[in-house]
Amino acid sequence: MRIIHFPHPTLRRTSKALRRVDDDLRKIVREMFDLMYQAKGIGLAANQVDLPYRLFVLNLTGDPAEAEEEQVFINPVLSDPKGSAEAEEGCLSLPGLYAQVRRPETITVNAYDLSGQEIEETIDGLFARAVQHETDHLNGVLFIDRLSPTTRLSLKDTLEEFEIEFADRRQRGEIPDDEKISARLSELEALRT
Ligand code: ZN
Repeated sequence: MRIIHFPHPTLRRTSKALRRVDDDLRKIVREMFDLMYQAKGIGLAANQVDLPYRLFVLNLTGDPAEAEEEQVFINPVLSDPKGSAEAEEGCLSLPGLYAQVRRPETITVNAYDLSGQEIEETIDGLFARAVQHETDHLNGVLFIDRLSPTTRLSLKDTLEEFEIEFADRRQRGEIPDDEKISARLSELEALRT
């Protein structure tokens, strides 16, 4: 398992709801947390590790020593957005790129945790921002899609560098073609969603 970078096509795929939690899924979640910590992140969605599942992990402290802060959201649904707040965001799939993003300030999230318990929480601040950022991932949306046109324009060169790097890696055979990626994801979906 590894973290994929923009413009990998899996980042644009809408993730499918999971049918159940089993030991394999628990193993996947553990690996996702480990990768997230290595990359110094606070959240990671399944499609960022090239998996088509509606699932993300969070630890707002970003500190593996604070394991009690780990949270898993399976099949999350957001509702009741209120207010508006702007803050800087980054993304493990766009390493080194940071920009101001405007989002609702408060949100209600419904999801299942890893023990199959239903979660319902109304949240704000960094927690609400991270949950919205990660849920966006599951819908194939990246934070760069939510920038103001002027901010996006100012990041044009950086985004082009990501595209060139991706094309180079693909040419070296490190990334399969779109059809192969899609076929693999469809197989995984048939298994668990
Ligand atoms: Zn992200």
